[in-house]
Amino acid sequence: MGKKEEEEIIRIAKKMDKMAQKKNGAGALDLLKELRSVPMTLELLQSTRIGMSVNAIRKQSTDEEVTSLAKSLIKSWKKLLDEPGGGEKPSDEKRKEQTTPVVSPSQGSPEAKEESTSDSIRLKCREMLANALQTGDDYIAIGADCEELGAQIEECIFQEFKNTDMKYKNRVRSRISNLKDMKNPNLRRTVLCGSVTPERMAKMTAEEMASDELKEMRKNLTKEAVRDHQMATTGGTQTDLFTCGKCKGKSCTYTQVQTRSADEPMTTFVFCNECGNRWKFC
Ligand SMILES: [Zn+2]
Repeated sequence: MGKKEEEEIIRIAKKMDKMAQKKNGAGALDLLKELRSVPMTLELLQSTRIGMSVNAIRKQSTDEEVTSLAKSLIKSWKKLLDEPGGGEKPSDEKRKEQTTPVVSPSQGSPEAKEESTSDSIRLKCREMLANALQTGDDYIAIGADCEELGAQIEECIFQEFKNTDMKYKNRVRSRISNLKDMKNPNLRRTVLCGSVTPERMAKMTAEEMASDELKEMRKNLTKEAVRDHQMATTGGTQTDLFTCGKCKGKSCTYTQVQTRSADEPMTTFVFCNECGNRWKFC
């Protein structure tokens, strides 16, 4: 059943990609309605990359009905990512620290906390933060509004310093470099999902941004494993569907990569967030 749905979604995705390429959105609404009736799962979302296609349509369309349906679809899929295991409740939920409230950015009021500004430095910083959040393509599957998040983070930093001098700039810069860090995708994801709020992201220390767990992971990485690791973590998705063979941990990141030609099946890379173990899943 899952296979059939996958094919169906891929068919829709291909049509949408063509529409986006040709900048002709005729029929997009029907495709979105079809999509709405497909029961989406985390795996389907990841294997079909449908989020990217819908996002492309959303960005391009001038039809309000199309953009709002695309938005609501992405928002509903995003909930799958917020729930570990795509809906399955993990028995050891408590293990994860629950210090910050899990509030996704787009679930709050649509007019979020950021004030509009015409200050060119501040606008530039917002743009750079938004770009940093768009490293990899997690933001598409998550359906995060990077412009909004970037502006919110900037606003919090500005409110702290009340100016755009050196301290403000340094703070912005350190956020950007950490968000862009390919070896620390978890930070970016937690911000995109809203489990780290813009307020918290604005204030985090370098140590907090690169947690001990993540540092430990980095130490374990041999040079030749780095490429593998990057492949496995760039654009990956948090899941507890896999169990690590080494530490039996269930907090993993997985991604599917087209390793050879486009006709070959995708390879699934799984990365254990607990001990850094990597494996291929067939
Ligand atoms: Zn492990």
